[in-house]
Amino acid sequence: MSRQRRQGAGAEAVLREQPQSGHAEAERSESWQQERARVLVQARVIVVKVGSAVLADAKGLNLPVLEDLAAQLAALRQMPQPCDAQGTRRLVLVSSGAVAAGRAALASRGSAVETTGLAARQAAAAVGQGQLMQTWDKVFLPHGMPTAQVLLTRDDLRARQRFLNARNTFAELLQWGVLPIVNENDTVSISELKFGDNDCLASLLVNLVEADLFINLTSSSGVLAADPQKYPDAPILDHIDDVAALDLGQLCGGKTSVGTGGMYSKLLAARRAAQLGVPTLILPGREPWVIGRAFAAAGVCPVPAGHDPFERGTWVRPAHHAIARRKFWLAYQSDPAGSVHVDDGAAKALLHKGGSLLPGGVRAVEGGFQCGGLVRVLHNGESIGVGLTNYSAPDLKKIMGLKRHEVAAILGDAHYPEVIHRDNLLLDAVV
Ligand code: GLU
Repeated sequence: MSRQRRQGAGAEAVLREQPQSGHAEAERSESWQQERARVLVQARVIVVKVGSAVLADAKGLNLPVLEDLAAQLAALRQMPQPCDAQGTRRLVLVSSGAVAAGRAALASRGSAVETTGLAARQAAAAVGQGQLMQTWDKVFLPHGMPTAQVLLTRDDLRARQRFLNARNTFAELLQWGVLPIVNENDTVSISELKFGDNDCLASLLVNLVEADLFINLTSSSGVLAADPQKYPDAPILDHIDDVAALDLGQLCGGKTSVGTGGMYSKLLAARRAAQLGVPTLILPGREPWVIGRAFAAAGVCPVPAGHDPFERGTWVRPAHHAIARRKFWLAYQSDPAGSVHVDDGAAKALLHKGGSLLPGGVRAVEGGFQCGGLVRVLHNGESIGVGLTNYSAPDLKKIMGLKRHEVAAILGDAHYPEVIHRDNLLLDAVV
């Protein structure tokens, strides 16, 4: 039985069906409370993401909310660190709110526009992004924190060289003490370029800047133990031991109306961070001084005057065995371009024996991918992972199901023994 809080009949009903990690807790050397306190004390590089539903309301950006957040992030940056750490804590802010700000700006000038379509959303973001940055600049000014606007698409991180370029830029900004404020480059984002939402973008940045903590500020109090549409009294989970074991479809309700994420995408993002060995703290972004109070509860700083320590929100624990950053990058910087269906033997070899995928284990091929493309690996219709293929779809169709000597007879000797090498495969990918 997990130690997750499970009051409420509805929540019990849903959670009882969640697969549990079993040995997960037994193997951990510290409780989740100890882990939360330790990480908050030690975190040096922190990605903080804040959604539109926190920053904006029907009238656009909510200035007092942005002012409060700027004061909190300035305080977080200066919070004491372990004695071997140098300089201040390094922060990256992922901020939504461009579409909401743009929509409100247009409405205030009497040109209310329909912004449900993709092109209209992109145009509204173009109107609002400048305002969003101006407002952040203004609220960080009294704290002496210079800011930098960084707009990214997934495509920017797809090519390894561009990923490394972006990493160098972030390193330089952080070295200078500048706060990077990141948003998806909505103007050029079309479906295959989109991160999907800023939760996804933030989880990719956790890898890019090698963060050791991800704080996601949301419009809700934390992760509810059951779909709130069905179980309105569902309690907040104070922690999640094994985010990969949660049935997100059952757990999450609808999306919030202002942002695009909802709790579903927050948990997917937390799951990606967990794979890297990075915990996520999901906090209610409109709770006054919530970051400072959470750090005060961990003993990092004094409790701010007039406030209580904040021990709530949801702590999502990192995976026991973090995956290599390179594997994370290859699995998540682009969408899979196709699928390979594998037989029982191949699935067993991949899942339980640490094997690579060989041509003999492939049953079917879908999509028109190239050699080196990212593909989904499916077994009985279920995704078991993603990986980089050594063969294009047409070549793979010629050799699927064949043994090595038979492959050589078709493609010649200069072929790869594996369709997907183990090192280029991420099992249990969040795609
Ligand atoms: N990039 C969008 C904006 O700034 C938000 C995307 C999201 O809500 O995740 O408005």
